[in-house]
Amino acid sequence: MEKVILIKYGELTTKKGNRNFFVKTLTKNIETKLKGFPITIEKDNSRMYIHYEDSVETTIINSIHQIFGIHSYHIAYVTKSDLESIKQALISTLQEQNFSTFKIEVKRSNKSFPKTSIELAPIFGSVVLKNKNNIKVDVNNPDTIIHIEIRKEHTYIYYNAYKGLGGYPMGIQGKGLLMLSGGIDSPVAGFLAMKRGIKIEAVYFEAIPHTSLEAREKVITLIKKLEKYTTDIKLHIVPFTKIQEEIYKNVSPNYVITIMRRMMYRIMTSLCQKQKAKVIINGESIGQVASQTLNSMYVINNVTTIPVIRPVACLDKLEIIDLAKKIDTYETSILPYEDCCTVFVPKHPIINPTLEETLKEEAKIPNYQEILDETIANTFVLKTKENAKDSYQDLL
Ligand code: ATP
Ligand code: MG
Repeated sequence: MEKVILIKYGELTTKKGNRNFFVKTLTKNIETKLKGFPITIEKDNSRMYIHYEDSVETTIINSIHQIFGIHSYHIAYVTKSDLESIKQALISTLQEQNFSTFKIEVKRSNKSFPKTSIELAPIFGSVVLKNKNNIKVDVNNPDTIIHIEIRKEHTYIYYNAYKGLGGYPMGIQGKGLLMLSGGIDSPVAGFLAMKRGIKIEAVYFEAIPHTSLEAREKVITLIKKLEKYTTDIKLHIVPFTKIQEEIYKNVSPNYVITIMRRMMYRIMTSLCQKQKAKVIINGESIGQVASQTLNSMYVINNVTTIPVIRPVACLDKLEIIDLAKKIDTYETSILPYEDCCTVFVPKHPIINPTLEETLKEEAKIPNYQEILDETIANTFVLKTKENAKDSYQDLL
């Protein structure tokens, strides 16, 4: 029997005005993800049907689990819209199902069908009871709901829903720049931002020769892992060595991190303007380290008016780790290569910096704006498909 994947739009349908755009974007994302597979997509206002060949079912379903905007889906059996065909199809699908209690839900959009939904439910109910042992009807709390949806040409029979990734279709919110270090938190932040429909580009601050080629490779691997949930992610590499060395040379050690992060935010702001991105996204989590206390966030955030989205701000480290494992970035993130922040970390970074003191410390760096301008001008896009090693060698 032919099967289709039936997607109900769920959360999308609450956004009435935007519905067409949502559905169009979701369709485009599904088509891109499943490019080259023998599928066809049929859709109406409330549902989408993906027709596929049986041999690719597992691959298609695995892909569906990587697409934002799908809250739940069913695998629906397709049959002809006449009573006898529906009964026969119901009997044959029953054998694959495991349940003790059930309820029938009939939806009849084909109003020329000779019986109403209310009349049909008990008819199908008795077919089920006759053809499966040790089961009974429970309309309040059934193990399974058997959905029978009678449309003009075809009828769809389907059982409980499978959970999708949820969120909004990627791309409906415009662009954001993700500060992607090699750590655990920032890939998770990127994933959660994409889940809200944001198209991300990644920015990696690199301090060659203090940081290694492996650290960059790690970021590239993380990007590839995140790309499963989107189309492609551009990687901007910021040559951060000069500004970091200047900070280190001139600023009191306990203020080094505060000021380094202000410089990062300044660069991010400029990159957002250049790339027409609306927000900065990062993996800061309240209280996790000295630079992420509320006082630090206040002082650091002070250099930009661009919204900074911190998707993991209120999660515990263990919750973040859990998510990192689920999206398969954890194993890469815990590889031991140091990035620019860890290389320059002082023994006692200030936990509660003040704006006044920070400005005094910052003023000790001669011409930092010039260095920032130069850094921004030298920021480049690395095609992650290219051999990262080659372009890294050019910088040494
Ligand atoms: P993560 O937070 O990703 O586990 P981390 O703990 O090493 O890495 P923090 O020092 O906590 O990073 O920095 C907080 C956030 O700042 C990171 O989550 C990331 O968004 C950003 N960030 C830090 N270092 C870099 C870098 N080298 N390049 C890009 N972004 C960075
Ligand atoms: Mg962190």
